[in-house]
Order: sequence, then C-alpha cells, then structure tokens
Amino acid sequence: MRVTALAGGTGAAKLLRGLAACLPPEDLTVIGNTGDDTEVWGLHVSPDLDTVTYALAGRLDVERGWGLAGDTFRALEAMAGLGADTWFNLGDRDLATHLFRTRALRRRRPLSRITADVAQRLGVAARILPMSDDPVRTRIRTPDGWLGFQEYFVREKAQVEVLEVDYEGAADASPAPGVVPAIRDADLVLVCPSNPVTSVGPILAVPGIVEALGTARGVVVAVSPIVGGEAVSGPAGALMRARRLAVSPEGVATAYAPWLRALVLDRRDAPSAGALRARGLTPVLADIVMTDRRSEIALARRVLDARG
Ligand code: GDP
Repeated sequence: MRVTALAGGTGAAKLLRGLAACLPPEDLTVIGNTGDDTEVWGLHVSPDLDTVTYALAGRLDVERGWGLAGDTFRALEAMAGLGADTWFNLGDRDLATHLFRTRALRRRRPLSRITADVAQRLGVAARILPMSDDPVRTRIRTPDGWLGFQEYFVREKAQVEVLEVDYEGAADASPAPGVVPAIRDADLVLVCPSNPVTSVGPILAVPGIVEALGTARGVVVAVSPIVGGEAVSGPAGALMRARRLAVSPEGVATAYAPWLRALVLDRRDAPSAGALRARGLTPVLADIVMTDRRSEIALARRVLDARG
C-alpha cells in the first residue's frame, strides 16, 4: 500500500516513525512543510524536513522533538561568546546538515535533491520531498507588526497575539517534482497530526496541491492535532482561533474541507463524531496521543485501517 503523508515537525515525526514500522519504507512518501524554513548565521535551516528525516533515521532527539539525539552545543556557545543571536538552537552535528544544504543551494541544487541526498546519507529509505523547491515563508502578524515564523515560535515562544498568518511566496511557488503524482496516485494520503495553520497550511497554499488532494485516487485521512479542545502541544489552538477555526476535530475538518474523507480523532472527542458524519466525513476513534513507540505504531495501524 503506497502512503503519502503531508507533514510538519514534531507531531508528524512520531506518527511517521510508527508508519515506517508498518510499511516497506519504499511505500512511504513524505511531503514536508518548508514554510518554517529560516536563515540562521547565513545557513538555510529546514526545521520540519530535518525533524522528519532525523526521526525516520532513528536519530531524532525524542525528548526535545527536534535536533539530533546526543548532540552538543559548543558552536552555539562560541557564537554567543561572539555576541551573535543564539535564540535559535543549532546543535554541533545538526550544523553539518545546514552547512551541507546551504552549500548545495548556493550551487543551485534544488532543495528536493538536497533533501533526498541528506535522507539517503542518513539511511532513510522512505522518500522525503519538500512541498516546493521555491521559497515559501510563513509570517505572523502581531500587534507590533510582522514576524517570521521562527521569530514568533522560538524567539517569542508563541506568547504574542496573532492577528494574521501569511504564506509569503506561496502564490508563485510550484509543487516540488514528484509531489503532485505522490498525492494523486497514493492508496492513502495522510495529513499528519500537525499544526493545520503553520505546518499543513503552507503545503496547501502551494498552487496545485489542493487540486491534487481533490482528485486523489486513494482515501485522504487526517489525524487531529487537537484533543479535548486544545492542541496536544504548541500553538495550534491560538493559530486556529486567529483563523476563526474551532479548536476541535470539527475545526480541523473545516481546515481540510472539501477534500478530506476521514478524520482520526481521540476517543475523548467521541461526541464530535456525529457532526463529522453529518458533514460527509468518516470519523475514526482512536487513542491519538503518542507517548512512546508502541502508541506510535498502534496509531499508524489505525490510520492504515481507515482506508476501509
Ligand atoms: P511543529 O509545529 O513544527 O512542531 O510541527 P507539527 O505541526 O508537526 O507539530 C505540532 C502539532 O502536532 C501540534 O498541533 C500538536 O497538537 C500535534 N501533536 C503533537 N504530538 C501529538 C500527538 O502525540 N498526537 C496528536 N494527535 N497530535 C500531536
């Protein structure tokens, strides 16, 4: 069964790790968000692509949910000593990924090729594609003006009011090679439990991707990142409210209408099932908070069964 997953960072990484245990890796394609990409010390950082790549390589720092397990931060300390901004943490070994990527981009290699090279070098057999080779940057408007996504998320710890979210560059971006066929031809398209506004939203903003979802041959299933009226982690709730979406499975369904067919929601949200059914969606109840490897694999199995 060929599965194509739309993915952000931390929530997606857990479920993808579970899926990789249930499928031959060559049957899994991941389409990663690059709206979070940023430049740090002159280096191109792709946080979501790296989180997914490290997770599938078995090298993610599982506690933090980003970066490489066991990494050290000597370069960061040295940069602090030089008076550089160090609010965005980069580990020493992680830095190699950003150096490798930045050097290749300067040589005009497309991000999709570089992402595939990094994945291959780290021993990942699944296919990881950025949503686009063109720059798309998520920006957040606050009462004090626009912030880049990482300024909002990491520097301000998502503690500022959000008035508006924009995906700069999206209208002129094209899906990366392979993205549209991977969605169209998969047996199952999975929208990972990721932030609907800042992780999945940028992917959907690339022209051609929503159309591909609407004409996908396989079933399109999402896992809710919202449980019991709040995000499992991170600012998805505040961002959904800023978009006037309910912070509930129904709000997630609205964000993914009209192409979503099934939504996997937490058993605690069972009362939402009727409203989803009334909207023509198949509700799938499961334990959707992943706390260890076993729960990641159990949820992955449930998602694969949702194909019906
Ligand atoms: P990030 O925002 O770049 O860290 O990446 P994501 O968007 O992939 O991850 C954050 C989202 O995943 C949040 O909206 C969380 O609510 C959701 N999330 C994190 N862990 C879990 C989990 O174990 N289960 C579910 N269902 N959602 C999760």
